[in-house]
Amino acid sequence: MRAIDVHAHPSTERMMGGCLGKYNEAMSKHYKFEVKYETEEEMAQVFIKADVKGILVGWDAESNTGAEALGNDYLADLERGFPNAFVGAFCGVDPWKGEMAVKEIRRCIKELGMMGVKFQQIAQGFFPNDRRFYPIYEECASLGVPIQFHSGFTGMGAGLPGGAGLKLKYTRPIPYLDDVAADFPNLTIIACHAAWPWQDEMIAVLRHKKNVYNELSGWSPKYFSQALKEEIVGPNQDRFLFGTDYPGLSHDQWLGAFEKYVTNDPKIKEKVFLINAAKLFNIKLD
Ligand SMILES: [Zn+2]
Repeated sequence: MRAIDVHAHPSTERMMGGCLGKYNEAMSKHYKFEVKYETEEEMAQVFIKADVKGILVGWDAESNTGAEALGNDYLADLERGFPNAFVGAFCGVDPWKGEMAVKEIRRCIKELGMMGVKFQQIAQGFFPNDRRFYPIYEECASLGVPIQFHSGFTGMGAGLPGGAGLKLKYTRPIPYLDDVAADFPNLTIIACHAAWPWQDEMIAVLRHKKNVYNELSGWSPKYFSQALKEEIVGPNQDRFLFGTDYPGLSHDQWLGAFEKYVTNDPKIKEKVFLINAAKLFNIKLD
């Protein structure tokens, strides 16, 4: 295994058409890739050929976008169907569903064997530190599973009038993510993406809150700020994780750009590509 991709969306019609359909055109322009649907088998083959194991992430932004949820059973089936391609999954839960969301998390962890919970606050339209959602975090803390929060910009709605109504404010690290990390010191929080335009805030949270990790998907390392590049090779090198935001970026694109623009140091690469995620998620390396 060359790497663990901590942030992989199903590139299937169910996700790309059903959940994200109305944002596809803007996203493909922004990320300069053509949105095409892959079958489950085709997607798995991409990971197998790249010698990368993926961690799948779910999606449920029904309350805010009106688009249907991906379905956590679908995600669990995809993961189990291709053990050579995938090594785990984070369930997608709509925080506005209240007690139902809490129950769904419990079901996904206990019955479906998922690893944690994924939120995308721009699509879901919520501030992480809103106390109405604290029962969700209490559940995750008591189950001992991590939460992923989106951080920074999104390609969803990018370049459209009003950004298709989507608001970027929800993904700012300070105070929203920092508050949750402070209020739940036993909860592991993974901030997804490079948090642009708040990369410095993200670094401050990482330095201050030991229970926070930063997964670097969705951006080519070419565009990381100088401060972020220095942080990745600095004292917090054990808390950065590789991810692509598949199908947004290919594995070779991201891994190659990391070597070229961040560092080619084999020790750091091994940590960020593989070991940090393996330790965090108890994944056995062969
Ligand atoms: Zn994503």
